[in-house]
Amino acid sequence: MTDHKAVEDAFAFNVFPKRDLVIVRGKGATVWDRDGKAYIDCIAGHGIVNIGHSNEAVVAAIEEQASRLITCSGVLYNDTRARLVEKLVGLAPARLKRAFLCNSGTESVEAAIKFARFTTKKTGFVCAMRSFHGRTLGALSATHVPKYREPFEPLVPGFSFVPFNNFDKLEKAVADDTAAVMLEVVQGEGGVHVGEEDFFRKVQKLCRERGVLLIIDEVQTGFCRTGRMFAFEHFSLEPDMVCLAKAIAGGVPMGAVLCSDAVEAPVGRHGTTFGGNPLACAASIAALDFMIEKDLAAAAAEKGEYFEKNLDAGSLTKVREVRRLGLMIGIELKEKVKPHLLSLMEQGVLALPAGATVLRLLPPLTITHEELDTVASAVRKVLR
Ligand code: PLP
Repeated sequence: MTDHKAVEDAFAFNVFPKRDLVIVRGKGATVWDRDGKAYIDCIAGHGIVNIGHSNEAVVAAIEEQASRLITCSGVLYNDTRARLVEKLVGLAPARLKRAFLCNSGTESVEAAIKFARFTTKKTGFVCAMRSFHGRTLGALSATHVPKYREPFEPLVPGFSFVPFNNFDKLEKAVADDTAAVMLEVVQGEGGVHVGEEDFFRKVQKLCRERGVLLIIDEVQTGFCRTGRMFAFEHFSLEPDMVCLAKAIAGGVPMGAVLCSDAVEAPVGRHGTTFGGNPLACAASIAALDFMIEKDLAAAAAEKGEYFEKNLDAGSLTKVREVRRLGLMIGIELKEKVKPHLLSLMEQGVLALPAGATVLRLLPPLTITHEELDTVASAVRKVLR
């Protein structure tokens, strides 16, 4: 059998710290390695596969669209793209009226930064400490995590950072040249930290009063992950822009920015060759329909609670705290997480870190209760 690991090591320009595992197939919440060993996938493509691996509705939509029209320039109209943007905007609060389509999370953040600068003619952004918004230079400039920033400095000027959930510091940081405040609702890469209602309410009020745009990055939290279609709905927020990607198209690369009327479209001055291509749009329509039909938001809320009860983290001495919204789960340990991730893999469970000490679980929202039981007992076993 070809040694796929050796081939990737030899020919791929690798930027990821790899695990010794070759995955060849996935269905629902399970993936299989090339020897046929099954794993419950709480990595889920880094929080992409909310509707399960190789979801049949998405597979069928891709097949149908691929045989009809795969690509269509953004300078032309397209039937599938029209259906998607109508559906996507229909899922959001009335304030968000239009969708810009792109191909990834970082592209959606990059676009939001450019739209904010174009609209306000200002260049300042206030972001949160521990934030992660992506890896292109604009999105990286909004990212606080030093290990991602520092090797690539100097970055885009004008970005300042305040402690998450600290309104007083944020209010002081907003200045005359501030174009936008950009926040995650739950900081994912930064360690699964949930924002507070009072903080968000005050931030939104301040933004309205000061004519500053409010950008919410829902790349990781969007599409039912936290128990609502969008996490900002937990706090009745009405942002000016919402960045989306990851779960938007059932695993097919896609991103989007939902924009209110306060945002001006830089027609002819921003664009993307692949963004809004019919293939991704068809996958996204099928993925969104599936989420709505199966009420995956309610499922995430219920299953998250079920898992946390079952985990009984209070009885695990290595656990400092569990932070969670829906099925976005962070288990903060009193020690480094990495060895535990490898032990979990041996137990047949794939999990993520979020920083050095947080074990992060982002399972497909279609995961069964039995699979969640297996994950909980594997976590309990490795942390005992
Ligand atoms: N924003 C948030 C909140 C994210 O979690 C991520 C990725 O993890 C990104 C942006 C960047 O998305 P992508 O990796 O698709 O560029």
